[in-house]
Amino acid sequence: MGIAATNILAARLKGSFVMSANDSIDYSPDVLGILLTARCNISCRHCCNCSGPEAEGALKLDFITGLIDDAVRIGSIREVGLSGGEPFLFLDLVGATLRHARGHGLGASVTTNGFWGRSARADRMLDDLRADGLTALCISTSQFHQEFIRLDTVVAAAAASRRAGLATTINVVASAGLQPDTIRDALGDLAGDVCIVVMPCLPTGRAAAKVDAREWPGLTAQPLGNCRHHFQKLAVDLAGDVWPCCSPGGFTPALQLGNANRTPIDRIVARAADNPLVAVLDAVGPAFFLPFLRGAGLADTFPDRFADQCHLCHAMLSDPRAASVVAAACRQLAGEVSQLAAPERPVGRIATIAATQEPAPV
Ligand code: SF4
Ligand code: SF4
Repeated sequence: MGIAATNILAARLKGSFVMSANDSIDYSPDVLGILLTARCNISCRHCCNCSGPEAEGALKLDFITGLIDDAVRIGSIREVGLSGGEPFLFLDLVGATLRHARGHGLGASVTTNGFWGRSARADRMLDDLRADGLTALCISTSQFHQEFIRLDTVVAAAAASRRAGLATTINVVASAGLQPDTIRDALGDLAGDVCIVVMPCLPTGRAAAKVDAREWPGLTAQPLGNCRHHFQKLAVDLAGDVWPCCSPGGFTPALQLGNANRTPIDRIVARAADNPLVAVLDAVGPAFFLPFLRGAGLADTFPDRFADQCHLCHAMLSDPRAASVVAAACRQLAGEVSQLAAPERPVGRIATIAATQEPAPV
């Protein structure tokens, strides 16, 4: 007897479908994340998009401004988030982008490695960016960043950011060699004014080859969590490809929503509301697919432990055999849901999508 997809869905929703009333109908991201460049002043061993000094160039300003104009039509976008690569290597482009975002009434954040933290021009640079429309700064660090950029430089960048009146976050890529408490201790009196966000190192991009398994954080067989929070932030990369999240694990073919060079991003997002994979990930996360993957005889190649949900997601969607199991599970779920009597159906986007699909054999 096969696996009942609706039972797994109900279990992951922790009970009956009635409890799934918070399964949103809309797909309404509020941050437009733009990967401005692959150029970086350093080349961290864990970098998910293999950025470094050898990469040239950045997105063109007219592409970026057109993208923001289109994104405003989504209706829910409130902020533009610039990352890379290292955006501070392209200050003129960053400033022009911030001004364009501000012209639409949007907030703006930049993610940086903070290499400029102890520079004499740090305060002036941040004041100028703030005048252009910067509202928040995210500074990334990890044991891998710290092979190039000392933690006291990162702390100095955070202090300058607070002096400029910016909302300040330190993104910590957790690994066996660095615990987040180290960052909190280093911040000292600043700790109360700086948000610390921790995300695990994932074996994607350069990390797949350059980070030893012993350096990864602790692994678990059942990574929990859905993608709803992550799906608040769209990502657009250097090729114009659009992704539903900015996680390093998310850049896999099945999650590519479209290309902003060919289709306006507001139309891409409208179309994504009908994407069954995005709907399942939004509601219950990638662990929904584990029973199907473990029942498909992939044990020879598919990992059995994961750093977090995004590691599982990357593993299952970057392996073509696993990705086809995931696609079949989505079709099966739609088929099962469409055959349920109306009062027994889950509430929300999964049911809405299922109603429009051709029922698959169960
Ligand atoms: S992780 Fe960030 S700082 Fe490190 S190489 Fe990649 S883009 Fe640069
Ligand atoms: S699980 Fe996948 S889709 Fe969800 S946030 Fe992580 S990488 Fe993105």
